[in-house]
Amino acid sequence: MDIKYVPTICPYCSCGCGIYLVIKDGRIIGQEPWKEHPVNEGANCPKGKNAYAYIYSEDRLKMPLVRKNGVFKESSWEEALNLVSSKLKEAAPEKFGLIASCRNSNEDAYVIQKFARVVMGTNNVEYCGRLCHSSAVAGLVPTMGSGVMQTSQLEIELADCIFLAGVNLKETFPMISRRVLRAKDRGAKVIYTDPRNTATARYLADIHLQLKSGTDAALINAMMSIILAEGLENKEFIATRTAGLDELRNFLSKIDLKQAEELTGVPIEKIREAAITYARAERGCILYNQGICQHTVGGDNVKLHADLALLCGHAGKPGSGVNSMRGQINGEGSGDMGCLCVFYPGFKRVSEEAAKFFEDAWGVSNLPTKPGMTYIDQLYNCKFLYMIGGDPMMVVPDVNNVKKVLQNMNFIVVQDIFLTEIARLAHVVLPAATWVEREGTHTFVDRRVQKINKFIDTPGETKPDWLIVSQLAERMGHKDKFSFSSAGEIFEEIRSCIPQYKGITYERLEKTVGGIHWPCPSEEHPGTPTMFLEKFGTPDGLGHFQPVEYKPPAEMPDEEYPYFLTTGRSIFHYHTGHMTRRTPKLMNEVPRGFVEVNPKDAIKAGVKDRDIVTLETRRGSIEAEARVTDNVQPGLLFIPVHFADSCANVLTNSALDPSCKCAETKVCAVRLEVKR
Ligand code: SF4
Repeated sequence: MDIKYVPTICPYCSCGCGIYLVIKDGRIIGQEPWKEHPVNEGANCPKGKNAYAYIYSEDRLKMPLVRKNGVFKESSWEEALNLVSSKLKEAAPEKFGLIASCRNSNEDAYVIQKFARVVMGTNNVEYCGRLCHSSAVAGLVPTMGSGVMQTSQLEIELADCIFLAGVNLKETFPMISRRVLRAKDRGAKVIYTDPRNTATARYLADIHLQLKSGTDAALINAMMSIILAEGLENKEFIATRTAGLDELRNFLSKIDLKQAEELTGVPIEKIREAAITYARAERGCILYNQGICQHTVGGDNVKLHADLALLCGHAGKPGSGVNSMRGQINGEGSGDMGCLCVFYPGFKRVSEEAAKFFEDAWGVSNLPTKPGMTYIDQLYNCKFLYMIGGDPMMVVPDVNNVKKVLQNMNFIVVQDIFLTEIARLAHVVLPAATWVEREGTHTFVDRRVQKINKFIDTPGETKPDWLIVSQLAERMGHKDKFSFSSAGEIFEEIRSCIPQYKGITYERLEKTVGGIHWPCPSEEHPGTPTMFLEKFGTPDGLGHFQPVEYKPPAEMPDEEYPYFLTTGRSIFHYHTGHMTRRTPKLMNEVPRGFVEVNPKDAIKAGVKDRDIVTLETRRGSIEAEARVTDNVQPGLLFIPVHFADSCANVLTNSALDPSCKCAETKVCAVRLEVKR
């Protein structure tokens, strides 16, 4: 009997917690805490305590599947890859789309984007980060020069005011909520904006601004107007590190606080308390997530939070900044690697110059120089789709319409670990390895790069994503550019092309518990936990104020659809639910989708707790179990996003933020009826 205890990283959220896996005779049989890991110090949330069960699920894909006469048949890799290769050779670059995932390793993501650009000649390569955090780039690049998290998650403990903007931290980043609790022990105050009364509101917040859905801009403008009126702006910081305050001041002079109170539903005295608390703090730290991003004004919302931080001088020091909380394991890394239609690897904006750089680096010619299509635009405009690790049938708004579009595609190839909702519509399905069946790196929420090793053999004939894509590239005539023999070889190419990763090596990562924060320009450099210590990432190094007006959501309640609907997450589930719904202990906690209904609305609609209700929007309807609770205010309904049989995105609105093409999945108008 051979028993091993091996250290690795939890495969779920982007906190990047350490765990020990217990492996007996080549099979994982349990897990133990990793007490020395700096992120979690031995603690894990319910998902992290049940990290591996899904990989032994009976319905793991183990062989390639090829659709024949409408039915999937198991095939050899030879047959499947030859078919995909011949189909993709038919695709014009502008009709081909390639979508990766936040769960791919850096090495996978790097090879995926290289395939799109070198083999298919297109920048039509994206990942699911587009649907939640593209607004970070739209909002933070013009204000501060970069959309990444600015302080290390460990440094959050240093803050004396933590502003949780639309991030239900307790459930979505449980280990970071421990840092907030430690800051509170030192006397820090926590401000929280969320229309719902969540666990974060109950256990972390000192000031919960329970605003109406989609009114963040009205709230932040009111806060900034109060700060200026009280003379609480940080004059020295503004003078030395920012530009454009006069324009913001002029704009804010027209803000009517009474109107802000009416729009947000938050008493002005409470807004004032929050504004003064944040402005007076020595170190203020804004952590934000989809609650402010997944709106038609998501980019604007991020700009406003950056304005607020600049106004108070809360950036450019440990435990401060405006911090984009990318939620999934490689939410940062897949973007760093260039799985974005407007960026080559290392956030080199698509241009002739960037194409030339990578032509030289990769020894190729004619790389695309024009931006490609974003995630949702690819679905609606391409005829050939290669989907690696994502599921638009779960995460894209107006799923019924998405299904029709997918059914009209010429060819869909899906590469994943399970037969996902989109895989059911595919022509070919390729079975991929999970996180402990291959080697690679991931970049966690605070730019922390950590290495994950291969500990067990892949089941059946599954392969790492990078290997499948490389073998396909080989069949399509590009063997010399994709002749990688290991993930380590890919990482060496990443280091040579992406300056932020230059000083990070596999050897260093093996020796550094907790990983290394990029930017890391040399092998002697310790990494960079805090960004912008001396200057921002803008061309002139200054923070730029960007005044933004409040705009209402694209769809408001009316007589026909009288409720606001908002969506979110549960601590027991992860994203599309494909992994956690195959984890019995997590399913025991939350076995199905539900809708939260305020008691007053329940009486009005004749709904009792645990009734099955129908939710209907202009796009479709679903059934879900009602939970009558004052977690939601009257007029607001909430559903989690993890369940295929009561899929939230059947209901959500496909209106897009024009600045970044992120969809407004956080707010739409809905009708509620008891199922008769
Ligand atoms: Fe895993 Fe995130 Fe939970 Fe940590 S907080 S154990 S990384 S799911």
